[in-house]
Amino acid sequence: MILTTPLLERLARAGEVHVVATPANAAVLANHPAVASVIVYDKRRTDAGLLGLIRVAARLRATGATTAYMAQGSWRTAALARVAGVSSVGFDTSAGRWLYSRRVAYRKDWHHAQRLWALATDPRDASVVPERLRPSLYPGASDQAQVTALLHTAGVGDGEPLIALAPGSVWATKRWPSYDALARDLAGRWPDARIAVLGAAADAPLAAAIRIAVQERGGAPIIDATGQLSLLGSAALLARCVVLATNDSAPLHLASAMNTPTVALFGPTVPAMGFGPLADRHVVLGRDELTCRPCSAHGGEACPLGHWTCMRDVTASDVGAAVATMFDPPREAGPLR
Ligand code: SF4
Repeated sequence: MILTTPLLERLARAGEVHVVATPANAAVLANHPAVASVIVYDKRRTDAGLLGLIRVAARLRATGATTAYMAQGSWRTAALARVAGVSSVGFDTSAGRWLYSRRVAYRKDWHHAQRLWALATDPRDASVVPERLRPSLYPGASDQAQVTALLHTAGVGDGEPLIALAPGSVWATKRWPSYDALARDLAGRWPDARIAVLGAAADAPLAAAIRIAVQERGGAPIIDATGQLSLLGSAALLARCVVLATNDSAPLHLASAMNTPTVALFGPTVPAMGFGPLADRHVVLGRDELTCRPCSAHGGEACPLGHWTCMRDVTASDVGAAVATMFDPPREAGPLR
């Protein structure tokens, strides 16, 4: 959904944009100026089954929309557009492609933000796509308040530099295993900087390991934001950080939206798949010489070859050095925006 926002902004220049989204994705689009309304489609609960689909289709039809851009390519969303009576445009690789009114080539060589943006392109201009797109998010007052409270509790002063680490991922093989060593390295380089750990509640053990490593190095106490913030709250916190070091996971895209300098660690996946960082300043680290990369679309639970070299061999000192490049010159750690 985050990478869809350049497409939403483009469409909003031509007319009202209504977005059909899951409850979690709907929250990401809160306050977005390009979005006239969000139709929540809770396909697992309140809108489950055929009756739920018909209900959501009626809501979509009521907006007066004429075209549906199928960022999410399931047969279910394709059927939704059909039932709503709106034409649909989607990728020629999507599961629901047989139901689309128009199919667009899925360009493997483009960033996914570009692919999505191109859904709204006249087929005769298919090659006209901006070289660089950046997503956008708009944390609201409640998201900002979450961050203010978190930083206040942690005793962080205005302008105090923050370094964000996002050690989690849904997929085990995407989780770089040395964030604790990196935190030790960073605490040695910048004793006055504070490390903020982003992630879901399930990432709390990773934050605990980072806390211990920083304590051992005598660094300032970390800010453990795992499970504490909404997605837009995490975006608001990233807006306040000098740099984010992250795996190939959601915080990478949040940082792109907030233009937070990013050090991205890729193991079983590669940026060429279309999901690399888009912040103006970013560095990608990975073992490019490994012929087994990429080994899956999303990363898996275990390395199929058993050695997991793609992540194990990325060193904390290399990542620390990449983070250091983002301090020169440092992003101004100003007030929340
Ligand atoms: S097969 Fe290669 S790319 Fe995949 S997890 Fe193992 S080391 Fe990483």
